[in-house]
Amino acid sequence: MTESAVEPEAGHAPPQPAAPTRFAFGETFTGHMVTAAWTVDGGWEPDTLRPRAPLAMDPAMVGLHYGQVVFEGLKAHRQADGTLGVFRPEDHARRFQRSARRLAMPELPVGTFLRAADDLVRADAGLLPDDPALSLYLRPVLYASEPVLALRPAREYRFLMIAFLTGGFFADRPDPVSVWVARDQSRAAPGGTGDIKCAGNYAPGYPAQQRAALAGCHQVIWLDAAERHWVEEMGGMNVFFVRGTGARRRLVTPPRTGTILPGITRDSVFALGRRLGLDTAEERLSADEWRRACRSGDLTEAFACGTGAGVTPIGTVHDGDDRWDVADGGPGRVTLAVREALAAAQQGRTPHLAHWIRRVPGTARTH
Ligand SMILES: *Cc1c(COP(=O)(O)O)cnc(C)c1O
Repeated sequence: MTESAVEPEAGHAPPQPAAPTRFAFGETFTGHMVTAAWTVDGGWEPDTLRPRAPLAMDPAMVGLHYGQVVFEGLKAHRQADGTLGVFRPEDHARRFQRSARRLAMPELPVGTFLRAADDLVRADAGLLPDDPALSLYLRPVLYASEPVLALRPAREYRFLMIAFLTGGFFADRPDPVSVWVARDQSRAAPGGTGDIKCAGNYAPGYPAQQRAALAGCHQVIWLDAAERHWVEEMGGMNVFFVRGTGARRRLVTPPRTGTILPGITRDSVFALGRRLGLDTAEERLSADEWRRACRSGDLTEAFACGTGAGVTPIGTVHDGDDRWDVADGGPGRVTLAVREALAAAQQGRTPHLAHWIRRVPGTARTH
């Protein structure tokens, strides 16, 4: 491909200037929530929008003890016409169902998920300032609420959807992160739950995250659990690399082996990469090969992606006593182009990707 193939497309607005991070991730909650309950005899009761409030909980609630809990994370962005649009909500709804099946939980109907998102976004849209760097993050969660400590799937569940304001990452030149390769702990094992979003997915990674911070790094790179060889993910995000030069240049990401979370951003980035004229491939990459390919010049960019932080460039890798930069350590051209293309799609600036956006009526900003 040519260099120009990764320039933002005609018609795209120029990248937004860096906005100060006014809302740290997961801290500024909105005023409402949607709730619904499920019982083995009655199925789903109607979902309701209500003011956000603490929950009453029996101390023997299954979800608290045995982790029968799944969640999702999706965002609503301000569109050019001022309304809010939720990004790929059906895909999140279906992944929520898949996560629930893996933990022997009831599936929330896709229609209920979408209505909950609409109701919550409409109720709290007025809190989202007119700033394209900010968005409304929706957090659906499904948990076993039955008070019983028997080792069997619960017979009562609760669905909740809450929301918070977040943003600050559509900066023109994002700061690259440094990563620390976890050599003796794993995130996900074959046959386990690494390919769903369940409550236990992040806490086992915190000690490695603390080790990474001690080494002066921002994030952890997870290797596969079986061979401790292949790069799988960065923290709670999927990873991409730009490999090859000239006509052989391609955007690659680790294949879905069952231990990688099938990110909706990962899927979007692949689609956007192809639209930018890049070849794309699912290819394994070992940490050793990552180092070699950076030194030989065959690997020129690395980035991570997810709903929370968008596209984040990886600048420096620490692996044991070894340490290397990806190219010059700055954000690469493909990374920046993909990042802008993703922002454009999320904000409804890419007309033929309009099917990725669910516009929520009644959310236009009233000044
Ligand atoms: C949620 C998540 C991702 C990213 O998924 P998106 O659908 O892109 O937000 C990647 N890895 C892990 C472990 C996750 O939990």
